[in-house]
Amino acid sequence: MSLLDSALVRLLPAVPKPVVQLFSSRYIAGPRLEDAVTTVRELNTGGKLATVDVLGEEITREEETRAIAQAYREVFAAIDDAALDSNVSVKLTALGLDLSYDLCRENLLDVVRTSAGYGNFVRIDMEDSSTTDDTLRLYRELREDGHDNLGVVLQARLRRTLDDVQALADLEPSVRLCKGIYLEPGAIAFTEYEAVRANFLRCLDALFDSGCYVAVATHDEWLIAESLALIAERDLAPLEYELQMLLGVREERRDELVEAGHRLRVYVPFGEHWYRYSLRRLQENPAMAGTIARATAGRVLRISR
Ligand SMILES: Cc1cc2nc3c(=O)[nH]c(=O)nc-3n(C[C@H](O)[C@H](O)[C@H](O)COP(=O)(O)OP(=O)(O)OC[C@H]3O[C@@H](n4cnc5c(N)ncnc54)[C@H](O)[C@@H]3O)c2cc1C
Repeated sequence: MSLLDSALVRLLPAVPKPVVQLFSSRYIAGPRLEDAVTTVRELNTGGKLATVDVLGEEITREEETRAIAQAYREVFAAIDDAALDSNVSVKLTALGLDLSYDLCRENLLDVVRTSAGYGNFVRIDMEDSSTTDDTLRLYRELREDGHDNLGVVLQARLRRTLDDVQALADLEPSVRLCKGIYLEPGAIAFTEYEAVRANFLRCLDALFDSGCYVAVATHDEWLIAESLALIAERDLAPLEYELQMLLGVREERRDELVEAGHRLRVYVPFGEHWYRYSLRRLQENPAMAGTIARATAGRVLRISR
């Protein structure tokens, strides 16, 4: 990323919402459940699996968290009706973690029980570091209560993650391993690009050592190659791991990986609360961030002329 681009990325939150929406549409299935169903059907037709996320990060009231849990019930019914190959991903803040741990637990239980009724699976996304302890605690509580259709996410960016892998080992968790999108301070996180990559591989190795099912979630070509080398060394069969990518990112590479015989799952967000998710995706795409900033500057200049 050039210095200019990285400065522009920091300015993205000041970009008008309609511009953000225009440039981020590739990352989101659409506002409605039907949009997600259409996207997942297309992915399935192309040999890919999906995980559906109901966008809900901007919610602040208890009724809204219950509405998100209800939206997941509708997602499971739609997946079942259309015989789609998809599970779901949930964010605990959308289920009320910022409001109350117990409310969030209740909503998560509701989603997990509904999922079990359909023989489906729920992945808890990992959010910023203020939520890590509660997320792992809730994950353990539910697993210890016998809810086995539940997985979690670990972030290679965090220094604690290798310890978390060891601490979770007794549960043989299903883990999505990603770099971690939330920029955290150096005291708790690796801040250098190469250090995050190195920790990703250390954690992946440790997860395989403890017999976990791992979803390797990255678009980083070097990491994909190194992860596949580890998988080959361990002689894992295609059903013993999966690769994951985000909707709208590296679509050609997705196809190649599927053709090479890997299971590949695409993260499919949909819903009205698209703004924060979109900002994060654009901030990760430096070329796009620059383009948006230039388009916005052009608009502002035209308006002020
Ligand atoms: C399925 C999935 C689920 C995730 N869940 C979580 C989660 O629960 N918690 C969490 O903190 N993070 C999550 N992430 C995000 C992840 O942590 C990273 O922030 C994100 O994947 C970018 O890191 P990267 O490994 O792809 O490497 P990067 O070095 O960021 O990207 C590698 C290359 O991929 C391409 N690329 C990456 N992002 C974009 C983009 N937005 N637009 C266009 N091209 C792009 C570029 O070519 C880039 O050079 C998830 C990622 C995936 C794939």
